Amino acid sequence: MKKIKKTVQVGNVLIGGTNPIIIQSMTTTKTQDVQSTVKQILELEKSGCEIVRVAVPDMDAAKAIKEIKKEIHIPLVADIHFDYRLAIESVDNGIDKIRINPGNIGAKWKVKEIVDRINDKNIPIRIGVNSGSIEDYLIDKYKGPTPKAMVESALNHIKILEDLNYNQIVLSLKSSDVLKTIEAYKLIHSKSDYPLHLGVTEAGTLLGGTVKSALGIGNLLLSDIGDTIRVSLSADPVEEIRVAKMILQDLDLRLFGPKLIACPTCGRTNINIIEIANRVEKALESVKKPITVAVMGCVVNGPGEAKEADIGIAGGKGEALLFKKGKPIRKIEEENIVEELLKEIEKL
Ligand code: SF4
Repeated sequence: MKKIKKTVQVGNVLIGGTNPIIIQSMTTTKTQDVQSTVKQILELEKSGCEIVRVAVPDMDAAKAIKEIKKEIHIPLVADIHFDYRLAIESVDNGIDKIRINPGNIGAKWKVKEIVDRINDKNIPIRIGVNSGSIEDYLIDKYKGPTPKAMVESALNHIKILEDLNYNQIVLSLKSSDVLKTIEAYKLIHSKSDYPLHLGVTEAGTLLGGTVKSALGIGNLLLSDIGDTIRVSLSADPVEEIRVAKMILQDLDLRLFGPKLIACPTCGRTNINIIEIANRVEKALESVKKPITVAVMGCVVNGPGEAKEADIGIAGGKGEALLFKKGKPIRKIEEENIVEELLKEIEKL
């Protein structure tokens, strides 16, 4: 049975408890470039991002939050390292959540200043432990940035906040290694009730990072671990949202739109299924219906899969057979397949 975590509110979005698993991303723009940052956030919103994070490396970035907040519609998170003044400035400018590790801020009074400021406003903190920035003494103790070292680091950061009676906490323990990420999250899950933000850090390019993220995040979600996810890719962040939605949808955790079944093609294929499948996938992004669409290359497995789907095609020679709710409807010429299929989907 799923271990229910505490609920934390970020702007108007709830993380944890029995709430849906929330999708997050991070901008790649310079935060102080308000125009570009807002433009990217609006694109992320449109693609389904529910919480967005910006880097706050200096005061200019912290000050830009005020202007950014006026233009966007989803909660904004400030990513801060070390300098407590950046956190204070971000809070004063209307930030909805802060990602900061209290153990890295220095003197306790600095942490207290932040906590005093955010306690009234109900602004949560994400403690983000990253295998690349574990404290030296823990690296020595555990002989490397191991999952146990990551968990001890997280527990130390938590204690600093709890000692100040603060508990609006979200946790992440990310490694670029999939297996270490999974182990670290499983360990902290057994020791803490704070909601978990899942991610494999620095996962890589669109293809490599998608595989790592699907394995790491997917494995944890299948173990009923995780309350919010961020797929981290060296790519346009909109791709992170697409991948995140696919992970959640394929695990039946959330429903965003159609599911696409497409055959890999083989020597029996006589139409350009790869191109058709890619065009259909792109077009389906704007469709919200919870349907299954099959794009199959031939009549061997084709009609079978296509019949299982709400709608589908099975390729022939220069044409395809359209199936709807299990019944053959008509033949379509190859060049009209995508358009005709989309028209039929519209009618469903
Ligand atoms: S559906 Fe037909 S064309 Fe596609 S992989 Fe299977 S046998 Fe080949």
